Amino acid sequence: NEQILLKSRPTGMPTETNFEYRQVPIKEPKQGEVVIRTLYLSVDPYMRGRMSTAKSYVAPFEVNEVISGGIVGEVVQSKSDSLQVGDKVTGMLGWQKFNTVDASTVRKVDDSLAPLSAYLGILGTTGLTAYFGLLDIGQPKAGETVVVSGAAGAVGMVVGQIAKIKGARVVGIAGSEEKIAYLKNELGFDEAVNYKTDHLRKSLIEACPDGVDVYFDNVGGLVSDAVLSLLNDFARVPVCGAISAYNITSLKEDMGPRVQPMLIKSRALMKGFIVTDYAKQFREGAQDLAKWLSEGKLKYEETIVDGFENVPQAFLDLFKGKNLGKQLVKVSD
Ligand code: NDP
Repeated sequence: NEQILLKSRPTGMPTETNFEYRQVPIKEPKQGEVVIRTLYLSVDPYMRGRMSTAKSYVAPFEVNEVISGGIVGEVVQSKSDSLQVGDKVTGMLGWQKFNTVDASTVRKVDDSLAPLSAYLGILGTTGLTAYFGLLDIGQPKAGETVVVSGAAGAVGMVVGQIAKIKGARVVGIAGSEEKIAYLKNELGFDEAVNYKTDHLRKSLIEACPDGVDVYFDNVGGLVSDAVLSLLNDFARVPVCGAISAYNITSLKEDMGPRVQPMLIKSRALMKGFIVTDYAKQFREGAQDLAKWLSEGKLKYEETIVDGFENVPQAFLDLFKGKNLGKQLVKVSD
C-alpha cells in the first residue's frame, strides 16, 4: 500500500517537501471491516488549516501520520454484512491507495445516478456547502443581487447556479479570463469580474447597479473588502472561507477583513458557518442538488489530475487557482 504523510508543518505556502510517500502492507480486514481501493481523492483548501496547529473546528493532521480527506473508492475485500465486494463508497479516508476501515464509517453511493467523482463535489460536501450557506444564511430572493467570490471554484460555481435557480441576479468574482468567460457563457452568470486584472471596486459597481444583497464569501481579504463596501441595507453575508488568508505568516500580510464599519452602515448580517452544522439536513440538500442536476438546472465542472503521485501538487495548485470547479485526483480506474 502507498500512503501520503504530513512530513512537516508548512510555514506560509506549503510545498512538496511538507509531504512524504511511504510503502506499507495493506492492513488485513477484521470482522466488520472492508478494504477500499481509492478511485478518486479530493484535495480541499480547508486542509491547509489542518496542517497547522492553530485552533480550529477540526483537529490538526499529525506530523508523520497519514493525511485524510474525502475519497470515493471500491470495496475489494469485505468482512462486513453491509458491504459487498464491488460496492462503491465514499467517506473521510486516508490518503492511501487502500484503506481498511469499519464498514460503518463509509457510505454506499450509486454510480448509476451520477459519475462517482460527483460524490466528492456537487453531490458531496461541495454542493452541500453551497446549498446551506446560500439558502439558510444568504436567503436570496428573486431580483436580488448575489455576489460570490471564488466563483469558478467548486463551491462558488454551485452557489451562483443555485442563486440563478432562485431568480437572483448573479455576479461572480474569479482570477482568470478563462474563468470569467466560463461563468458568463457556460453557467449564465449575469456578470463576472476578474479580481487580478480589473479595478475591482469600480467593476463591481458597474456589475451591481442595485448594490449587493447577498455576498457569499469564499476568499476574504481585499476582494471581500471591495464587495462589502457595496452592501445594501439588511444584506446577508454567508462567510464560507477565507482562502486569501490561509498561507499568511504575519498579521501585516492580513489584508482583511475590515468589515465593521460596512456592517454597521448596512445593518447586514454576516455569519460564518461550517457545512457540518447542517448534517441533520444533508439528505434534503442532497436530494435537491440531485434533482436540479438531473433536470439540467445545475452543471458542474471538475479538474481531474491523474495519479497518486500528483496528490500534493494538485493540493498546492488550489492556491494558484489552477482549478476550474472541483479539484480531484484520479488514483485508479
Ligand atoms: P475552490 O475550488 O474554490 O479552489 C480554490 C480557489 O480559490 C482557486 O481555484 C482560486 O481561484 C481561489 N483562490 C486561491 N487563492 C486565492 C486568493 N489569494 N484570493 C482569492 N482567491 C483565491 O475550493 P472550494 O470550492 O473547495 O472552497 C472554496 C472556499 O470554501 C475555501 O475558502 C474553503 O476553505 C471554503 N469551504 C468552506 C466550507 C465550510 O464548511 N465553511 C466547506 C468547503 C469549503 P481564482 O483563480 O479565482 O483565484
